[in-house]
Amino acid sequence: MSAEFDLIRKYFTRPTPTAVLGIGDDAALVHVPSGQELAISADMLVAGTHFFPDAPADAIGWKSLAVNISDMAAMGAKARWATLAIAIPSLDANWLEGFAKGFFECAERFGVELIGGDTTRGPLTVSIQIMGEAPAGSALRRSDAQVGDDIWVSGPLGDAALALAALQDRFALSPDELDRCLPALERPMPRADFGMALRGIATSALDISDGLLADLGHILKASSVGAEIYIDNIPAGPVLQPYRLEIIAQQMLLAGGDDYELCFTAPIKHRNRILGAATACGLSPAIIGRITAGNECMVFDTDGRPIKLQKRGYDHFSAN
Ligand code: ADP
Ligand code: MG
Repeated sequence: MSAEFDLIRKYFTRPTPTAVLGIGDDAALVHVPSGQELAISADMLVAGTHFFPDAPADAIGWKSLAVNISDMAAMGAKARWATLAIAIPSLDANWLEGFAKGFFECAERFGVELIGGDTTRGPLTVSIQIMGEAPAGSALRRSDAQVGDDIWVSGPLGDAALALAALQDRFALSPDELDRCLPALERPMPRADFGMALRGIATSALDISDGLLADLGHILKASSVGAEIYIDNIPAGPVLQPYRLEIIAQQMLLAGGDDYELCFTAPIKHRNRILGAATACGLSPAIIGRITAGNECMVFDTDGRPIKLQKRGYDHFSAN
């Protein structure tokens, strides 16, 4: 038996009771019941770009699947199956064990089955394709935000960006503070149940991966609308909260990445339904602004003055 096949069997093969055919053939088979649509998305994580190469292997395993499940949540879809394409520099049993542990912890928590993939030697890269289901016509798109809608976030922002800044020596945190905000960076929690609860309620939705303003910008563009955001209404992560009046903290709230909370729009009449659904999911969402006519995104400070922003989000290809 080849080393590659052995590795796949040992680390990546678990029962896949809901697939018609799982790992081991040329392709997996799944059945999508009639009346459901298949939602499909892929996300690639490259060592040195999306995570530190020496980050704990189990954290890389968790996060690489979690960010994909987050995309399903943002569509209001139920994540069901995933494939895993992984390049590893060497056959490091400790690393693979740790990676698989984190990956399958996340998979079990959110009811996702690993049904296939590809394994190759190369610079550490993890590429996952996720498939989910949503009743036909119910998936949440980016394109239906309406003038007057509330703009919501599903939970506090900024702690992941704060942890990253601390690890990169751009912001000084005490060891205790770093301990408390590191999980936001390393083990994001996809808002899976809440995303599904927003079907038929939200007019648009996405998950915040590149920073609130950059991602909200995608909704505004797709829906041909503008927005007003009130910075005081944006909930900050518990570690960022005491710093929230500092300019750098405001940048993290507005443009820090890796939050994986949902940002969505909904008519004012649905406020109580949304709060009820959030409570059932253990979340405390907040209304951070409203959708306006036009195409501008204005951010207002405590005194109602517009804030001038330099950096709106994380862009892998921008020059600065
Ligand atoms: P093929 O040569 O037909 O592409 P492979 O030898 O690459 O097949 O893979 C054998 C089986 O193992 C396939 O079912 C494939 O989907 C699965 N597989 C390969 N790598 C992984 C992985 N990292 N995680 C899960 N399944 C994998
Ligand atoms: Mg084949």
